[in-house]
Amino acid sequence: MKAVRRFTVRAGLPAPLAELRTLATNLRWSWHPPTQDLFAGIDPELAERVNGDPARILAEVPAARLEELAGDESFLARTRAISDDLRRYLSAPRWYQRRQDELARRGDDPDQLPAAIAYFSMEFGVTEALPNYSGGLGVLAGDHLKSASDLGVPMIGVGLFYRAGYFRQAVSPDGWQVEHYPVLDPSGLPLDLLVDQAGRPVLIEVAMPGNRLLRAQVWTAQIGRVPLLLLDSDVPDNDDDLRGVTDRLYGGDAGHRIRQEILAGVGGVRAVRHYCAHAGHPEPEVFHMNEGHAGFLGLERIRELIETRQLDFDQALCCVRAGTVFTTHTPVPAGIDRFPVDLLQHYFHDGRLLPGVDLRRVLALGAEANPGLFNMAHMGLRLAQRANGVSALHGQVSRDMFAGLWPGFDTTEVPIAAVTNGVHGPTWTAQEIGKLLGESEVPGGDNGVGLTELRPITDALLWELRCGLRERLIGEVRRRLRASWLQRGASELELRWTDSVFDPDVLTIGFARRVPTYKRMTLMLRDPERLRALLLDAQRPIQLVVAGKSHPADENGKALIQHMVRFADDPEVRHRIVFLPDYDMSMARFLYWGSDVWLNNPMRPLEACGTSGMKSALNGGLNVSIRDGWWDEYFDGENGWAIPTADGVADPARRDDLEAAALYDLIGNQVAPLFYERRADGVPARWMAMVRHTLASLGPKVQASRMVREYVDSCYVPAAAGVAAASADGFGGARDLAEYRARVAANWSRVRVSDCELDVAESTAPVMGDVVRVSANVELAGLQPSDVDVQVVLGRVGDTDELADVVAVSLAPSTNAGEQGALVYRGSLALPHAGSLGYTVRVLPRHAQLATAAELGRVVFAE
Ligand SMILES: *Cc1c(COP(=O)(O)O)cnc(C)c1O
Repeated sequence: MKAVRRFTVRAGLPAPLAELRTLATNLRWSWHPPTQDLFAGIDPELAERVNGDPARILAEVPAARLEELAGDESFLARTRAISDDLRRYLSAPRWYQRRQDELARRGDDPDQLPAAIAYFSMEFGVTEALPNYSGGLGVLAGDHLKSASDLGVPMIGVGLFYRAGYFRQAVSPDGWQVEHYPVLDPSGLPLDLLVDQAGRPVLIEVAMPGNRLLRAQVWTAQIGRVPLLLLDSDVPDNDDDLRGVTDRLYGGDAGHRIRQEILAGVGGVRAVRHYCAHAGHPEPEVFHMNEGHAGFLGLERIRELIETRQLDFDQALCCVRAGTVFTTHTPVPAGIDRFPVDLLQHYFHDGRLLPGVDLRRVLALGAEANPGLFNMAHMGLRLAQRANGVSALHGQVSRDMFAGLWPGFDTTEVPIAAVTNGVHGPTWTAQEIGKLLGESEVPGGDNGVGLTELRPITDALLWELRCGLRERLIGEVRRRLRASWLQRGASELELRWTDSVFDPDVLTIGFARRVPTYKRMTLMLRDPERLRALLLDAQRPIQLVVAGKSHPADENGKALIQHMVRFADDPEVRHRIVFLPDYDMSMARFLYWGSDVWLNNPMRPLEACGTSGMKSALNGGLNVSIRDGWWDEYFDGENGWAIPTADGVADPARRDDLEAAALYDLIGNQVAPLFYERRADGVPARWMAMVRHTLASLGPKVQASRMVREYVDSCYVPAAAGVAAASADGFGGARDLAEYRARVAANWSRVRVSDCELDVAESTAPVMGDVVRVSANVELAGLQPSDVDVQVVLGRVGDTDELADVVAVSLAPSTNAGEQGALVYRGSLALPHAGSLGYTVRVLPRHAQLATAAELGRVVFAE
């Protein structure tokens, strides 16, 4: 197929309407209903056709209509009011600024809060008008920036601009996924080109093998207060093959992907430097990698420090680690981004990409069990002093999965924390529900205070509201289903039936997400007869709307979609189950608003968090989900249902059988009966009690503003303090830490602990709570007592030598030297448990700039 190149001619706006340009360009419109309404009012039909995208409305509205509006006093007054509101939103102090003031008032240093944070991600889902995402990871990144904006957190987003985005999905007549790659025209999107003082486009350069350069221009999108920089290699100065580096998201082979990641990471840092210089934006102190893809950003920052601050690699690494936060998103080992080591050699060996950075050091950062592979997640963990998973359960799974990087430590001590994802309320909440939650009181989102309580509203009114949202979804289902059938080759005449699919009174269940195997899109089809019976039940039927894209290279995922489409094509059930092609943000919103139940049945624990169920909950949808990701943490027995899992069953087919059967039982015996249990006035009172409880209790917890505040407090602030410590006194801190690490590395293998004794003072049969004394001989080799922490570790023992429920207490060196230069360490502790206990003594590194004792992955136990 021929790829058509598009270009856009901007309409000249009459002078009185000039402010519309700013309102259309700042993507705050995407979560600000008054701005959306203003643009829709310009030309309602056009607005409907272009999904409310203000840039397209301005580009396509007839000039005569603009002239008319230019003389319409009431329209001009509304435009002015909304412009003023945007200006206030962009300039008034918000949560972050109030925190700074508060610190200053208390006499604390307001500079504890970083001056800026750079947030790197391979995808950003801000709005469907900027289709630069594939799924949850990108939408999360978009929500992160939006909430940062609402909270006033000074963030800069960094990623790539893909000419063809991810892809548009259709289905063939026999149900196979068909991909289209319409080419986007950035000049028609809400983007500005980054230019220098002379008005020339800034070109970022990164070296490629064979003495070539990869150049990229930089588009900036404005997400409220937060700029988003998107690098675009499609510039005439590039060789043809290099122009295509940013052609598609997640398309192409490993070579293509590594070029994208080099551009995003190395080029991304260079773009940030240009942006800060030109826009007068403070330089980021903290760099946050959303997944490992942008990990090369750490190498570029090491290069900068080596070149401009005359640090060596180790000193620079100490500095970079202090200021880096890494968030891992996949508990699926196969989902981790790895490259053949040869490929790294190919791109890095001539030294032009990162002058002064030793290739061997680079390779060591990504080393993993397989010596032929370079592991981007391992590099992320080695480049970041702070790392986290995205739900409590995923934190635990990640600590297990990456425990090998911290040998000798119990998985509970592996330094990977958890920050549970959240979703941007103002983006995902239907306007009507948002009002109930008090959103409208605080312009531009919840401003970090958390949504207030559910306003008083009767069950009947709340139910009416939910029914309205369900009806809106059904309208969308019919429209999209019809379009899909037309696209599959049906004629208008045969499609009258699509006007009556779905029933506004029937329990509506939504299932939409990407289609990797672990998400099990077709679990509900495991026993087709049972599903059929639920759909067609005479008293208590259900209806199901299903959507999702499969990665274009994933034939297995496409087979799942085909299975689903073929089931839904059956004339007997097609009025109760539909597959809607081309799941994206514009479809998603209708599903989250209107589904009574949001279904999620991943293979536990492979769903890191899952966020679609949070968006449904924000609108009063009840989750029916496997206890995985966020649901494991937030399910409370009254905000939805947990599908029982058969984790222990090794055979996946049998596990699917068991879990599918549990799902049918749950829906047939609990969910549907509750939905159809009505009061005299037709309201399902017990159902509404669960809806209320969901809105009131989950509403505040699932917010991205809660998530971003957690990142600020637990990651960005400590990281900024670490950077300050490392760079103090002309980088004396980094030099000191690097010297310490070298000393530990040189001497650690000779550190020994021996002759541990635990002395039960009074009696031979100690009682819980008795104080015991512990001593041990420690040879510190070349290290000083101040370099280490010597601890007694005591806990329960079972049949193995593993300790559980441990307490660790530091011992102090006595002045009496033991044998051969060893120091005697002593201390005491109260026995914490009754029963069978065990203990050992261990030596850990200690340094003020380490975030945890496990950080260096070094520990010596008593012999
Ligand atoms: C929220 C969202 C997702 C992520 O959903 P999960 O439940 O995490 O799979 C994917 N796609 C779109 C369009 C979304 O809005």
